[in-house]
Amino acid sequence: MPARPMDNDCIFCKIISGVIDSACVYEDDDVYAFLDINPLARGHTLLVPKGHYPTLLDFPPEDGRALTGAMRRTADALMRETGCGGFNCISNNFGAAGQVVFHSHWHIIPRFDGDGLMIARPGKYKDNEEMRQLAKSIRKHSA
Ligand code: 5GP
Ligand code: ZN
Repeated sequence: MPARPMDNDCIFCKIISGVIDSACVYEDDDVYAFLDINPLARGHTLLVPKGHYPTLLDFPPEDGRALTGAMRRTADALMRETGCGGFNCISNNFGAAGQVVFHSHWHIIPRFDGDGLMIARPGKYKDNEEMRQLAKSIRKHSA
């Protein structure tokens, strides 16, 4: 099995290896989860693959099953402990999306009715044709 990539200068690699202290909520062979130091809600957790992959575009698809399994377990534990009514799983990728730590990770944020977090202002397409054309153009890149 190839060695897991890691980066000695990466803050999350340091957290995973225990060089920097963290409040761990879940760990298995592939994934480490710990409380975010600046929580958007009580229990806000960061779920981090143990390999150093800077963004989702670097993350090996074959590791996805372990990641989503750990995400389920952690989110379920958060619901039981915090009494939240739901949760968001969010991954910021690249600076324009707000990524600050370039070790791929997912935020699991407990949500409560009326908590006012993340108020979205959805946009609008001109019509269905514009949507179809855009989807067709995107498919050219995803094929
Ligand atoms: P990003 O914006 O890259 O998606 O989020 C990085 C997150 O890492 C931020 O929410 C920030 O609060 C969290 N964070 C950064 N440094 C540390 C740290 O040393 N310990 C913990 N627990 N969280 C951190
Ligand atoms: Zn790292």
